[in-house]
Amino acid sequence: MTDKLVKNDAVPHGGSVPMVKAEGVHKSFGSVEVLKGIDLEVKSGEVFCLIGPSGSGKSTFLRCINHLEKINAGRLYVDGELVGYRQKGDKLYELKDSEVALKRRDIGMVFQRFNLFPHMTAAENIIEAPIQVRGTNKAQARERATQLLERVGLADKAGSYPSQLSGGQQQRVAIARALAMDPKLMLFDEPTSALDPELVGDVLDVMRDLAESGMTMIVVTHEMGFAREVGDSLVFMDDGVVVESGHPREVLTNPQHERTQSFLSKVL
Ligand code: ADP
Ligand code: MG
Repeated sequence: MTDKLVKNDAVPHGGSVPMVKAEGVHKSFGSVEVLKGIDLEVKSGEVFCLIGPSGSGKSTFLRCINHLEKINAGRLYVDGELVGYRQKGDKLYELKDSEVALKRRDIGMVFQRFNLFPHMTAAENIIEAPIQVRGTNKAQARERATQLLERVGLADKAGSYPSQLSGGQQQRVAIARALAMDPKLMLFDEPTSALDPELVGDVLDVMRDLAESGMTMIVVTHEMGFAREVGDSLVFMDDGVVVESGHPREVLTNPQHERTQSFLSKVL
């Protein structure tokens, strides 16, 4: 991390700590700056929708939250803790791989492409991480998998392989698999973009249920109906900056910036 990182002040406590806090987050790939100073805050329990044109940096931002990319400057906190670093006095130490792995356990991520393990059944996909990573015993993990499959409406698919499931069903298994690790934060990166239109609704219903259960969710999506109905906050990102943010209904109905208006006129 560069010297632009402010090293000295502690996380603001008092009241509840935000689940995610970004302060001037910059990320470059080589000479290409993809995130140009992102500031935002995701409160615990909220559904935070992130929209914006292709290439605006949405996936990169999610990957930074999930320790898959290192930021170049600024500060990024998850649940009050700096991502990638441990703070001791006024010094920062880079986390070891094992420490990063521990933190990543608490964050569930669902991608556009349902990347289930193809050689494992739905149930096996779900029990894999709890058994391998958390050391949960097999019987308990299986019982939990059964409950989770029920929750996503796939109680009868425990023994099916991904190739035997529709895209929407695979995506619901992917959500169940992420939930099996009891994450405190769920990241969704265009979870319905690769689905046939008739399969989108079932996945959004599962996400809506999850939101109602109080899960903190960051959702990158082009589903403006979902953002409007389920979202608590909405951010419009373009070219690596937050252009506009607010309550979804407000931003979607009455966008203030020309760039937001132009984007929404294309997707709504
Ligand atoms: P979005 O998700 O909003 O479509 P991305 O975060 O995927 O945007 O990408 C933002 C920009 O960063 C794009 O120009 C993309 O080509 C570039 N980018 C993303 N990942 C990498 C990488 N690993 N190496 C180089 N460039 C990348
Ligand atoms: Mg993306």
